[in-house]
Amino acid sequence: MHIVSLAGGIGGARFLRGLRAAVPDAEITVIGNTGDDITLFGLRVCPDLDTVMYTLGGGINEEQGWGRADEHHLIKTELAAYGVEPQWFGLGDKDIATHIVRTQMLNAGYPLSAITEALCARWQPGVRLIPMTDDRAETHVVIQDEQGRRAIHFQEWWVRLRASVPAEEIILVGADDAKPAPGVVEAIGEADMVILPPSNPVVSIGTILQIPGIREALEEKTVVGVSPIIGGAPVRGMADACLSAIGVETSAQAVLELYGSRLVDGWLVAEEDKGVTLEGVRVVARPLLMSDLEATTEIARAALELAR
Ligand code: GDP
Ligand code: CA
Repeated sequence: MHIVSLAGGIGGARFLRGLRAAVPDAEITVIGNTGDDITLFGLRVCPDLDTVMYTLGGGINEEQGWGRADEHHLIKTELAAYGVEPQWFGLGDKDIATHIVRTQMLNAGYPLSAITEALCARWQPGVRLIPMTDDRAETHVVIQDEQGRRAIHFQEWWVRLRASVPAEEIILVGADDAKPAPGVVEAIGEADMVILPPSNPVVSIGTILQIPGIREALEEKTVVGVSPIIGGAPVRGMADACLSAIGVETSAQAVLELYGSRLVDGWLVAEEDKGVTLEGVRVVARPLLMSDLEATTEIARAALELAR
């Protein structure tokens, strides 16, 4: 069986751990979000790809959900001593090694998809991880503050401002000219089913869907989504701030409508959201808290069952 999954960072990675446990023999291709990518201190950082790679490869900081376990921050401390900005983005020493390898390979001319494959050779995530695109397509957020109306990088809004300033618009800069990375459309074409994990519907899944050709390919397939919203709130993080920016309510119903019945065939909601309906979509209610691997594996099993 070949399963394609789309993934952001923490929510996607945790779900994928359950999916892998639910179907250890399946071939799983993960299309990763690269809209969060940013260049810091000359290094190319791909937070969502790395979260998936470290989580499935056993190197993640479990409590934090991102970054490396047993991390050190000597480089960050030294940079701060020089007064070098930005200081709001947490880059650990071990993590920086990943970004150095990636940046060296980019400078040598390799596409991000080939680099991701090379990095995964070390981590052995047990899935094939492909970035949504090799092209530069970055999420920027339009805000209004004392400096006026301006667009800032998604990470500055999310990490530095903790999404405290309302987003007026969220734009994937470069989306129109971006092409799906090699293997993305092919993997979707060969897939027996597609699972959308409970990743952020705007800046993770929504971003991947904006790469021309990806949504169209997915619409041909049986697609089951897992709601990231339970009882009107994101389980963790600030997805509500992203949903309000695009005028969508924070509810399992509204996220389903955002994806639409052309894309989604099945929708898993939490038990408190069992009233959710949309014509053409089969909705099933299950416990959706990924509290541990066992609970997460059960969620993945429910998604697979719904897809079948
Ligand atoms: P990010 O890139 O690190 O923000 O991670 P993702 O986009 O992959 O996932 C973030 C989303 O995961 C948030 O919108 C959360 O609501 C959702 N999420 C986190 N934990 C859980 C959980 O236990 N259950 C469900 N259903 N959703 C979750
Ligand atoms: Ca992310």
